[in-house]
Amino acid sequence: MGGFEVLWIGRVILLLQLVPGILGWGKEGHYTICKIAEGYLSEDASAAVKELLPDHAEGDLASVCSWADEIRFHFHWSGPLHYVDTPDFRCNYSYCRDCHDTAGHKNRCVTGAIYNYTMQLMSYSDSNSEMKYNLTEALMFLSHFIGDVHQPLHVGFLGDEGGNTITIRWYKRKTNLHHVWDTMIIESALKTFYSKDLSIMIQAIQKNITDGWSDEFLLWEGCALDQTVCPDPYASESINLACKFAYRNATPGSTLGDDYFLSRLPVVEKRLAQSGVRLAATLNRIFSSRQSISQE
Ligand SMILES: [Zn+2]
Repeated sequence: MGGFEVLWIGRVILLLQLVPGILGWGKEGHYTICKIAEGYLSEDASAAVKELLPDHAEGDLASVCSWADEIRFHFHWSGPLHYVDTPDFRCNYSYCRDCHDTAGHKNRCVTGAIYNYTMQLMSYSDSNSEMKYNLTEALMFLSHFIGDVHQPLHVGFLGDEGGNTITIRWYKRKTNLHHVWDTMIIESALKTFYSKDLSIMIQAIQKNITDGWSDEFLLWEGCALDQTVCPDPYASESINLACKFAYRNATPGSTLGDDYFLSRLPVVEKRLAQSGVRLAATLNRIFSSRQSISQE
């Protein structure tokens, strides 16, 4: 293969990565969520995660949190697992009504995927388990999908594909509303407030969790009825925020600038914080040794 062809293939891959609106939170969003989660893992969960991570992750969960997006076109079946569509303008979510793919197959949506991969990971300490799941993939999927379900437009309206078909301008750039929430708000924040340095943004969010949001922390962490995982309330929050903040003042053809950016950035930062805390809490429940003893 000539150098030119290699360059050309490289460009096509680059272009594919730039196609807007097809991925979950962008790379930065997922990295941030998993970095935050790492800080709240219990000893047991941290050990299990390290054991399950692929070698190339070098012990860092955050480095594989976009894996589910990278393999999305290779594992075609996994596409519908990144989001859930809700009926237009209802601004609510119901698992039974909404969690299916376009062919109507039940449980094939982001909340269904979170239940499924949690259930798989629960077999981690169970040597008698007859089912042999790929727990490395289950961990990487779960870490990604708990992020996705917190992106308000991943629980958006069916008619506009979660904002994907709403063409708008982000400042001068033509894009779509879904992509603004996946990527552009975070990108603009990095440029405007964090010297283009993701680690500074992550530190700022971490500081907010311990200072500003400390009174909400326990509420974020907990699941009703002592469940191991509870993605349904997260999805309800997301469609609520989608109606209140994402769709509002973002009609097709509009230009979004400072007003939109500055009022929505706090929402995005809080969702990143919540998903990080909840991912850690979920992994802590899944891998707590106390739980595996009480099951015996
Ligand atoms: Zn995704």
